Amino acid sequence: MNVLHIAPGTSIGALLHKPPLDPLEARVLLSHALRLSRVQLITRAEQPLGEEDARRVAALFQRRIDGEPIAYLVGEREFFGLMLHTTPEVLIPRPETELLVELALQYLPQGGRLLDLGTGSGAIAVAIAHERPDAQVTAADTSVAALRVAARNAERHAVTVHFIESDWYAAVPDVAFDVIVSNPPYIVSGDPHLSQGDLRHEPIDALTDHGDGLGALRRIVAGAPARLLPRGWLLMEHGYDQAAAVRAMLAADGFSRVQSWRDLAGIERVTGGVFDQRG
Ligand code: GLN
Repeated sequence: MNVLHIAPGTSIGALLHKPPLDPLEARVLLSHALRLSRVQLITRAEQPLGEEDARRVAALFQRRIDGEPIAYLVGEREFFGLMLHTTPEVLIPRPETELLVELALQYLPQGGRLLDLGTGSGAIAVAIAHERPDAQVTAADTSVAALRVAARNAERHAVTVHFIESDWYAAVPDVAFDVIVSNPPYIVSGDPHLSQGDLRHEPIDALTDHGDGLGALRRIVAGAPARLLPRGWLLMEHGYDQAAAVRAMLAADGFSRVQSWRDLAGIERVTGGVFDQRG
């Protein structure tokens, strides 16, 4: 419901500081609604808004005030230096997930094969394929709507990613990978964060396993040995308090070099290991 009114003739400058909107967010939304760069918003601060623009800005501001995430309102979000289409069908790419990309790039050999499970927007797979055109990147998701967004992102950045509709490993082709990565749903069912802020608008199946938070991680670990080349790495993002549990899972399933890496906030965010026992 649009209750916010912006009178035609209001200047752009006046809208750059319009509580309760955060000024940074107001700038992003104005830039999107008026198709002006950040610099143009400043140089045209005195310019009055026409009727149509005033209505469009008011509607967008109101949706933000009602809680819709900026990334969905403007339809894109930057990840690993790439602008990615971002719709409510996919999790919004997050900066901490760039750690997973960096580690995958480090462990992926020249010409290697990589599998991204639960690709969502395709952020991880597209970033890796963009950085490493030599790699063969496969990305799976159970959501056809997400795969459509991911395919648009691959196209937007002119990279080749082989997308498959698959419930984790179920439909993954029977080849062995050098690296398997995943940012699966890992929030515990009923966690209060799920009903707060931007998370309320994100696909619930991308956020939680509807259980203890480790369900998807368990399935990914369990299926990895059959899909990894000798000395291949499995790397998974997880919640702030799950690193020890994920390391224990990997150790129990015979992985070696099991370790966790911290994100920029200092939180153990990615855990991985190598599978090199062949029976
Ligand atoms: N990192 C996200 C959050 O806590 C969760 C994403 C996920 O479950 N993979 O908001």
